[in-house]
Amino acid sequence: RISYVNGRYLPHAEAKVHMEDRGYQFADGVYEVCEVARGHIMDMSGHLDRLDRSLGELAIAWPLERRVLPAIMREVVTRNRVRDGLVYLQITRGVAPRDHAFPAPSTRPSLVVTAKRSDPQAARRRAETGIAVITVPENRWDRVDIKTVGLLPNVLARQKAKDAGAQEAWFVDPDGTVKEGASTNVWIVTADGHLVTRPADTGILRGITRATVFRIAEKLGYTVEERAFTVEEALKAREAFVTAATTVVMPVVRIDDKPVANGHPGTVALSLREAFFDVAEKTQA
Ligand code: PLP
Repeated sequence: RISYVNGRYLPHAEAKVHMEDRGYQFADGVYEVCEVARGHIMDMSGHLDRLDRSLGELAIAWPLERRVLPAIMREVVTRNRVRDGLVYLQITRGVAPRDHAFPAPSTRPSLVVTAKRSDPQAARRRAETGIAVITVPENRWDRVDIKTVGLLPNVLARQKAKDAGAQEAWFVDPDGTVKEGASTNVWIVTADGHLVTRPADTGILRGITRATVFRIAEKLGYTVEERAFTVEEALKAREAFVTAATTVVMPVVRIDDKPVANGHPGTVALSLREAFFDVAEKTQA
């Protein structure tokens, strides 16, 4: 396995950053995960636009020209012979003696890119079974619209889900409305067949898969309402599902151990999943 670190392609075991990297010490960095499907990197420009925004919000400079990054991503995917899987990239503010304030003069930001394979058949089987989720109180900061590597609440929530035999955790506000999953956006299908997903304000991450699923839903003739919904409404819904580059569209069949509808994946979620590859932007790796 080969990974990219600050200008070099290295065997994965040698792909290292310094102990005084601010990503390591302060989670002072951002990341992106793109799906690789059938040899294409999916929705790359959407992911790079969001990366640009995340960097801007944290005043981290691009470590290289933006137009160079797609070539590095493609190179890492190709060198690892990934046809189906993920490409991960992370940019931190860089290496500097530990001090909370930004280093002055500024250091060069660190960039790492890695890719790994996944099994599309296993993902399909998972989608045909659906996943279970638990709900947890929202306890994150109010800028989760920035895709930072500061993911400790998400890590703890996902572990809690795992301990409960579930696959994802939904963050829920005190008013009972669902924010998003630990690494997914959330959707339901109402009794009258409308899709509902929470507005992408600063309270959730503006998912790139969420945006593509929006376009697919419109193509397939569904109405999409952007509004908050409660856990209770999700339990009464015809379907529930989550979206992310890592899972595409994944049906949710249990919430806090109670079934959604008949406890089986719904046709809307599966048809959106089916149409994803055709509608998403594809960059040849
Ligand atoms: N919400 C959170 C908190 C995430 O971490 C992610 C992805 O990692 C998403 C939503 C889904 O975003 P995307 O579709 O861009 O992968």
